Amino acid sequence: MSFANFFTHLECSANGERYSKDQPHNLSDAGKPLLARYDLEKAKPLLDRGEIWSREGGFWKWRELLPVARDADVVALGEVDTPLIDVPATMRACGGTGRLIVKDEGRLPTGSFKARGLALAVAMAKSYGLSRLAMPTNGNAGAALSAYASRAGMESWSFAPEDTPEVNLREIALHGGHVTQVNGFIHHCGALVAAGKDAMGWFDVSTLKEPYRIEGKKTMGLELCAQMGWSLPDAILYPTGGGTGLIGMWKAFDEMEALGWIGPERPKMIAVQAAGCAPIVKAYEAGETHAEECLDPHTKAMGIRVPKAIGDFLILDAVRRNGGFAIAVDENAIEDARTLCGREDGLLLCPEGAATLAAYRQAVADRRLESDATAMLFNCGNGLKYPMPDRAKTLDRHEEVDWGKY
Ligand SMILES: *Cc1c(COP(=O)(O)O)cnc(C)c1O
Repeated sequence: MSFANFFTHLECSANGERYSKDQPHNLSDAGKPLLARYDLEKAKPLLDRGEIWSREGGFWKWRELLPVARDADVVALGEVDTPLIDVPATMRACGGTGRLIVKDEGRLPTGSFKARGLALAVAMAKSYGLSRLAMPTNGNAGAALSAYASRAGMESWSFAPEDTPEVNLREIALHGGHVTQVNGFIHHCGALVAAGKDAMGWFDVSTLKEPYRIEGKKTMGLELCAQMGWSLPDAILYPTGGGTGLIGMWKAFDEMEALGWIGPERPKMIAVQAAGCAPIVKAYEAGETHAEECLDPHTKAMGIRVPKAIGDFLILDAVRRNGGFAIAVDENAIEDARTLCGREDGLLLCPEGAATLAAYRQAVADRRLESDATAMLFNCGNGLKYPMPDRAKTLDRHEEVDWGKY
């Protein structure tokens, strides 16, 4: 099967300046993320959303809305459409009366939604003939980079904060990527990637400093809309680190509207952060368009421990456009939410996914979110990748068993 390609150029997200798609790019000359643009007017009469949705291949099914032109550059590891799972008992326990849905991204290759972005970044790197890729990571991005790069026959380097969970570091290494722990946070790791560029000749695939990861994350917006019968939920609660997914989904909604697939309606985009690292929430509450760096970031939800996001202004814009907001949740609320969803609905969330549930609970209680809303949470990674509380009991089979205790 071959696909029409409507990708035309890249555009600076701050000033609209155009850049050619014919060579690899990082940030624009203004130091801002570049966004991929398509000829959607030309695509509109040619694309049939139902036909596209009926295809196999997970996020690769959206080929006409992705930048990859040649089939030979596609890098695939068995991608799937991630399920929408209703969690009605959890919703009721949180005071909700509408519909609460979890989009479970933990089903993707390497167990997180980082697969979407890195598959696209690696495929585009392949199309440009690049063979060495490097990136800072809190764990999941490195795993996805390492897997897709190896699959594509490329070498990859991941730099991770020293307290990144062992499971992530080992996963990166087993997928063939180089992985190094650094005594600092993710932006310190990012600075090392930039510093090593000349000596190592690698291409920097940091989120939003590379234009195609967002195109991969965009597919979450396309997919959830198709799964909802070409409609959108009232609210999307997104665990926000770099914000790539939130920005990407907003872009997807605009592109679908341009194609005539949806109208002007949009969900409230709710950016969820941990209280110990909430630069976007602070900026939102202060009415700022850019966020200050968080100097003492701390949370167990590593995926959202991002002290400074280069796309801060894009996140804040998407959040404000349709009456969404940014909200911080504390560590205990994250752990409680994780336990709640597992116990009530049999669905194990990762800490970042649990943060979105904690935010739902808090926002419904504070009436910032209507209790009867249809809300969608993002469980961005497989809960099994993270430390879990030890609550098993033991018994001595040689002693008399006190059955009431178990
Ligand atoms: C990367 C990551 C996030 C944050 O995603 P962004 O789109 O970069 O904001 C949240 N949770 C997990 C598990 C992640 O790996």
